[in-house]
Amino acid sequence: MKPLTYLRPTDVPSAVEAIATAPNAKFLGGGTNLVDLMRGDIEQPDTVVDVTRLPLADVTELSNGALHVGALVRNSHLAAHPLIRGRYPMLTQAILAGASGQLRNMATVGGNLLQRTRCHYFYDTTTACNKRTPGTGCAALTGFTRNHAILGTSTQCIATSPSDMCVALTALDATVEVESTRGSRRIAMGDFHVEPGDTPHVETTLAPDELITAVELPPLALARNSRYRKVRDRASYAFALVSVAAALRVEGDRVAEARLALGGVGTRPWRATKAEEALRDAAATDESFMAAADAELASARTQPDNAFKVDLTRRTIAATLRTLSQGAQK
Ligand code: SF4
Repeated sequence: MKPLTYLRPTDVPSAVEAIATAPNAKFLGGGTNLVDLMRGDIEQPDTVVDVTRLPLADVTELSNGALHVGALVRNSHLAAHPLIRGRYPMLTQAILAGASGQLRNMATVGGNLLQRTRCHYFYDTTTACNKRTPGTGCAALTGFTRNHAILGTSTQCIATSPSDMCVALTALDATVEVESTRGSRRIAMGDFHVEPGDTPHVETTLAPDELITAVELPPLALARNSRYRKVRDRASYAFALVSVAAALRVEGDRVAEARLALGGVGTRPWRATKAEEALRDAAATDESFMAAADAELASARTQPDNAFKVDLTRRTIAATLRTLSQGAQK
């Protein structure tokens, strides 16, 4: 590793001032991704601004019933929080499906939002990668693609978004709060991550000098009947081949309300809007659930090694909705 300047501010104004004035600087939270990237020479900041002393580690209930989650809340703490477990079970399940206990104890909410892809070519600096080094090509396009995306891909990059937590936050319509020396702003979760297009190295709409300070979860009665289902090659400590975050309300025998987002298949946390549209007032049956999945997957573009994900996604969506429909009859 090359020498770097290490700063550890204790308040948000000092942190955003530090990043604004230091060229090629990075915020450091739990370090569960950034430190690996620095060890591998994929990220090479000149300055690291350690934000773990900032007062951003609380979960607070707002007067309208929303939950305000500080960016430094550790993943394990968030998953175990009684209000999260009771009101947003899909979020607890998504977090607990990710990484290992030790990593979840370190990883922060803000850092999880910025977690970078686990495409193995991205981490191998001997191979071409447009995301790591723009304009060099994409080794995955002629390589092994079992873990790669089928939705939102481009001719420049087919890497999947790796986070489980972000899939649940996308289904829940969370809002990300950020701050810089220019002030604060709020970004809808659906606008936070971007598809690769011609610029795969740009993964979010966050400016380099903006600090994530919190995530807000809206009050959502529907989310009490929600679930996160993850399919992977190993039972733990593995990234998703396919994951589904879903919430469902059924009235009589028809779908009254549904939320659906996918992981492991998209270049960003994938809100399944076409499937949600297909589910609106549909019969709460396996046939409808499969049809909704088909509507979402019609735009899938597969590689030889990941074509299986289309049917796996279809069946995982249907199985998740079936489970929820059994607990959603009103
Ligand atoms: Fe790089 Fe994306 Fe290609 Fe992977 S899929 S090698 S991250 S450009």
